[in-house]
Amino acid sequence: MKNTHIISYLQNIITTQYEFLLPSFPCFRATIKSNVTFVTWIEHPHLPCTHWAASSIFLNPLLLPKKLVEEGFTKVAFKEPADVYIINTCSVTQEADKECRYIVRTILNRAPAAFITIIGCYAQLKPEEISKIEGVDIVLGASEKFNIAKYLHNLDKKANTEIHSCEIEQPLAFHSAYSSGDRTRSFLKLQDGCDYNCSYCTIPLARGKSRSDTIENAIKNVAKIAATGVKEIVLTGVNLGDFGISNPASDEHIESFYELVQALESTDADVRFRISSIEPNLLKNETIEFIAQSKKFVPHFHIPLQSGSDDILKKMRRRYLRDLYVGRVTKIKSLMPHCCIGADVIVGFPGETDEHFNETYKFLNELDISYLHVFTYSERSNTLAAENSEVIPIEVRRKRNRMLQILSEKKLRHFYQKQMGTEQTVLLEAVNKDGFLYGYTNNYVRVKTEYSPELVHSAAKVLLKNINTDGTVAVDIISSEQFQQQELNYATN
Ligand code: SF4
Repeated sequence: MKNTHIISYLQNIITTQYEFLLPSFPCFRATIKSNVTFVTWIEHPHLPCTHWAASSIFLNPLLLPKKLVEEGFTKVAFKEPADVYIINTCSVTQEADKECRYIVRTILNRAPAAFITIIGCYAQLKPEEISKIEGVDIVLGASEKFNIAKYLHNLDKKANTEIHSCEIEQPLAFHSAYSSGDRTRSFLKLQDGCDYNCSYCTIPLARGKSRSDTIENAIKNVAKIAATGVKEIVLTGVNLGDFGISNPASDEHIESFYELVQALESTDADVRFRISSIEPNLLKNETIEFIAQSKKFVPHFHIPLQSGSDDILKKMRRRYLRDLYVGRVTKIKSLMPHCCIGADVIVGFPGETDEHFNETYKFLNELDISYLHVFTYSERSNTLAAENSEVIPIEVRRKRNRMLQILSEKKLRHFYQKQMGTEQTVLLEAVNKDGFLYGYTNNYVRVKTEYSPELVHSAAKVLLKNINTDGTVAVDIISSEQFQQQELNYATN
């Protein structure tokens, strides 16, 4: 099948379990000229930044297949035979080299003649290291990955790995994109890169300077997504609150996140908007006030905190202290008491003593937030934090993680409990899992109801009844309306 190259797609959230995840990911076929495989390798979905992860998970794997399909390639599931494998490496840890080797070896065992391409953060940061992995044909850096098709004209295995990368200091273009594999929600990329310098983070090195879409183009994409029948659009970016820099060479904010929110509110699109994640210092009071009276933006914020200790926040080089965070939460809750607020926290950062951790624990325990995403700190080379010798033993990091996980479960349960007896709108999804359908309310309560064909892909008014043993919430359906069903295509521009 020399002319039949296959695209498959693997999204790996936990690297050691990636085979397990394979069957659940989508595949598609187009007119076959060539087929390629996509392997998205994600070390951890959130560390160090939820907003970064959202764009990595949902956007790159969507943008690139579209370009390849236009070139005549076909994308298929990872388990199907493929001639080209594209491994999208979204994070860099000390384990990166080992994990990447493992995935390459797995692929070559299955398809010894497969052409292997590595893209993503690891490819941008450590191309030489990757080139030493046996069987890798090409490594594409941050800008070259968007020109991937031109590197796939000749799929003969290379004697030596080719590296095509650029200096990340060069201003990179913004590539807008949105996901379209799900009829319930779509992830719209509005911003990329980051100008911050958090001491533990390699994302600015891997993704380049902050740059954004324009409001005008965002509105066009929203209209296109809404026309497919999707009912929820999640706004994503590496540092979404920094939206508005259209020319990274000048750093000038031409538009602002607040203006974007206002513009999206005034569109005709019959959708709800959810903000994926926003830095606390960039979530301004005017935005909170606007969203509090919005008909389209849901009452849900995900605001990275990282530590409840000012000492650690300073060491992390975050751009706020805990008082600012408290102010944001207080403002949100005073205007939207039913609002769901989530936070990212990193435990085991170098120099985090028991006192610092206890301070964080107490801070989070008292804060009116609904859930935590807890991450165990892991060293990244080329970061300031990795040079800090006050290393926290791994077992201490794990113990702290577990303590905050338990706290998160308690907080979520408490938040859910407060929502019982209220009426909410839920977007019900399509998967019939053991006779049940699932969905999220506007304020991010995970709901479960008995499967019924007329509830698939519907917006339902529900009464929240009680918390199930699996942590979801049982509801009474008050009314429901099915979404318009449309054939979806990969979408970028
Ligand atoms: S530098 Fe800080 S704000 Fe920027 S992506 Fe990294 S953690 Fe997020």
